[in-house]
Amino acid sequence: MPVIRVALDLPLHRLFDYRCEAAGSGDIGYRVRVPFGRFERIGVIVEVSETSEWPDEQLKPAGEILRDLPPLPETFFALCRFAAHYYQAPLGEVILQALPSGLKRIDPPQRRQGRTPHPVPAIARPDLTAEQAAVLSALDTASGFATHLLFGVTGSGKTEVYLRLIEQVLERGQQVLLLVPEINLTPQLEERVRGRFPEAGVVALHSELADAARERNWRAAVAGEAAIILGTRLSTFTPLPRLGMIIVDEEHDASFKQQDGMRYSARDIAVFRASQLNIPILLGSATPSLESWSNARHGRYRLLTMAGRANPQATLPTVKVLDTRRMALREGVSPLLVEGIKARLARGEQSLVFLNRRGYAPVLCCPACGWVSSCRRCAANLVLHMADKRLRCHHCGYENRVPRACPTCGNQDIHPFGRGTQRVESWLQEEFPDARIIRVDRDSVKSRRQWEAVLEQIHGGEADILVGTQMLAKGHDFPRLTLVGVLGADAALFAADWRAPERLFAQLMQVAGRAGRAELRGEVLIQTQYPDHPLFAAVASHDYPGFAAMQLAEREQAGFPPYSFQAVLRAEAPAMADAMAFLTSAAAAPCVCAQDQVMAYDPVPMKMARLANLERGQLLVESMSRPALQKFLPLWREAIEAIKAPSRLRWHIEVDPLEF
Ligand code: ADP
Ligand code: ZN
Ligand code: ZN
Repeated sequence: MPVIRVALDLPLHRLFDYRCEAAGSGDIGYRVRVPFGRFERIGVIVEVSETSEWPDEQLKPAGEILRDLPPLPETFFALCRFAAHYYQAPLGEVILQALPSGLKRIDPPQRRQGRTPHPVPAIARPDLTAEQAAVLSALDTASGFATHLLFGVTGSGKTEVYLRLIEQVLERGQQVLLLVPEINLTPQLEERVRGRFPEAGVVALHSELADAARERNWRAAVAGEAAIILGTRLSTFTPLPRLGMIIVDEEHDASFKQQDGMRYSARDIAVFRASQLNIPILLGSATPSLESWSNARHGRYRLLTMAGRANPQATLPTVKVLDTRRMALREGVSPLLVEGIKARLARGEQSLVFLNRRGYAPVLCCPACGWVSSCRRCAANLVLHMADKRLRCHHCGYENRVPRACPTCGNQDIHPFGRGTQRVESWLQEEFPDARIIRVDRDSVKSRRQWEAVLEQIHGGEADILVGTQMLAKGHDFPRLTLVGVLGADAALFAADWRAPERLFAQLMQVAGRAGRAELRGEVLIQTQYPDHPLFAAVASHDYPGFAAMQLAEREQAGFPPYSFQAVLRAEAPAMADAMAFLTSAAAAPCVCAQDQVMAYDPVPMKMARLANLERGQLLVESMSRPALQKFLPLWREAIEAIKAPSRLRWHIEVDPLEF
């Protein structure tokens, strides 16, 4: 009797066999209901065979095969197998995470007819700038696999390049996958694409869509009805029968990295997918990741450059580095920035104050006894939020009311220490009582819809001053914005994390890029106590290549990625001793010692050693050879699985980790 081999969403590195009389080889790729334990589950048929390694009487009969969708194609399985192998993730998890939740439910919800999208006004196609034209003539979308890196300064018109490429691919009757960072996928972008391609069928795939809408869009994409798929990282695996090109906007963005479950890089998966299908892929950014930049330097990626702004009247903003050591700051704001904002208010222009820290103050302290507000569940401070008078942990969500007096010594004179966006906002409001101030951070803007509303307010000229975190930094065009002030950037200069400068540089370039996007010239003021730091000099001269060369030289010296390849094993348990003992056993696995091409560091507590009452440790492994690391990881994972660990210990492996 035929046996089907089924992928299930379980943390186990194996498939599950079931008897299935009705199955034939044409059923590979269909979903199937199968009994598992006391329940039924939905799985995906990966193989059909006449035999099983299990004795017949142990095989349970499968339930119904669901043929309501075309079967998942072999290319989809190949992509999942690659990801499972590369990231040491169970194949079943990889396959099932790619499906919308409605398709994995035993009792699928009633499918309702979706709203037909309202007609959007057609959007005209501008003449290309010389740089855009040059890029497009250098990129042949019909020529098979190649990874192109589009390095285009902020405002250079990368979006128009994407739209023209999409046009070419659609003309050939193919589909396009346009991947964007989480926050950039707004209905505005969707409307813009719809407006240019009213006939094409455009669908969005992102985490904030309701289940039914996501399933509907997914089905349209999989059936080939939608030609343009606009998605965040979760759309990377969507099977697309006629995929002709992939575009990744803001390819350096950290939101392309999945931070739980299978910890994958959507950008890297996208590059593999393009190579698998022999189609071109374009990665775009004003500040490419150093990995991609280095790939371009070494000829693995093709570099395309746009160095000027698309709007001929717009110029790159002037960047001034303000030495705050000899300035009288008020609430962290320098007199020059105050003057700058005043001048903008007088001219009816907008200013943006960037501070990448939300809340009122990062901690509350007692000067008498040294008490600080700390989270009882994490190795972190509780952040003071004045709006609702709460102390909040930004890591585990624990919160408490603000005490009236010091809980240790009773002193009533306790102080907020340091500042976040709320504090700067309230001070600016006192300083400029008539100004309309909008604060933008994850406390004030919690959903895509709120974000939409805020963007509309800003565009409608209903704001004079914006105060916000990196939410404000990305990809938005605010034509009346002419001043950007940067506060609190110094912390990242000397962070223990060696990727911090790369992130800071990208953030500063992005936020600076908000200024002067139209005719009005922009000015950027960066406050710092380290005015001579080369990072600021590079920002001031808009010199990404110079900055990248500097960083890559340091990394080469230190043997960090992209000059080496890393994976990290993390363990968390109620007691640090258990986590460390586990990591120590993992470090002592025979395959670690047998490998001279892979080096294991000592296990250490993580930078945030406690999170939500769990102690966390990690063990880094590194190799100068990607193949050696890839050969080592499955052996190591098996050895780790064999370690006897306390029942409450959890562990995972992350390949190419971005944060430690
Ligand atoms: P980027 O994504 O590279 O930062 P955008 O795609 O947002 O830049 O474009 C910046 C601005 O330039 C936008 O206002 C856009 O409408 C305008 N723009 C882009 N291409 C052209 C063009 N060919 N002609 C005129 N304006 C353009
Ligand atoms: Zn005290
Ligand atoms: Zn906490």
